[in-house]
Amino acid sequence: MEKVYGLIGFPVEHSLSPLMHNDAFARLGIPARYHLFSVEPGQVGAAIAGVRALGIAGVNVTIPHKLAVIPFLDEVDEHARRIGAVNTIINNDGRLVGYNTDGLGYVQALEEEMNITLDGKRILVIGAGGGARGIYFSLLSTAAERIDMANRTVEKAERLVREGDERRSTYFSLAEAETRLAEYDIIINTTSVGMHPRVEVQPLSLERLRPGVIVSDIIYNPLETKWLKEAKARGARVQNGVGMLVYQGALAFEKWTGQWPDVNRMKQLVIEALRR
Ligand code: NAP
Repeated sequence: MEKVYGLIGFPVEHSLSPLMHNDAFARLGIPARYHLFSVEPGQVGAAIAGVRALGIAGVNVTIPHKLAVIPFLDEVDEHARRIGAVNTIINNDGRLVGYNTDGLGYVQALEEEMNITLDGKRILVIGAGGGARGIYFSLLSTAAERIDMANRTVEKAERLVREGDERRSTYFSLAEAETRLAEYDIIINTTSVGMHPRVEVQPLSLERLRPGVIVSDIIYNPLETKWLKEAKARGARVQNGVGMLVYQGALAFEKWTGQWPDVNRMKQLVIEALRR
């Protein structure tokens, strides 16, 4: 019988996940379909009961349910528990286990797309929201030398560092981060600044950027933010948010099926859809 997978969130209509997963199922000859499930706030418990009752094989979870879903699961893996958010659930014969592949997907995309290892790297993460949390805790699991955090609301960056690793990390205001930019090998924007429709703004001035460093933006709409354009003009190597989107999906796909999908094909599909 065809297995059912899907995405629980609100809203979900614009998600590109069905495109990636259904194409990968078809290409690998896996009898399964990925559906969108629009679940209103407050209904997540009922939705998870539905996953159990209907025998849905696995789901992704997105905004606003990534935290709310946790009490309804049978088990949450250590990494997702640390982040405090679940984006992937596997239904193991009725036992629901939660994972978080967002930050791990980001890290894998960064290493593979930029053809680097993070060993010994000095990294600055801008932002301290949901996206930053997953990325920060995933970066802590690498051998990066420093992972510093900067955020508009400095207290949120401070809280993250206290929960994380105060020996390898510190926190700054955005203004202070601007003055220290030359200290980093990799600079990552995890804020929503520059995202469609407000594409004319930037999260941080790149005036002190050293040429040759990596500048990464987890925004994928637009595909190239104003910030990435400027970084490129200043001699940086740049990465957009498509890699994170695709690799978090690929890691979920692998957890569900035991097979690694063609990530380049997934990327191509996502980029084509975003250009439409
Ligand atoms: P979030 O939890 O709401 O966090 C937003 C972050 O942006 C906070 O650090 C916030 O700072 C900062 N921010 C917002 N407006 C700002 C402004 N005007 N000036 C300075 N900082 C500002 O959002 P999120 O879920 O982390 O998502 C952030 C972005 O990442 C979105 O664009 C989202 O589309 C993208 N994203 C991409 C992927 C992917 O797969 N590529 C995955 C997840 C998210 P304060 O703390 O001071 O409010």
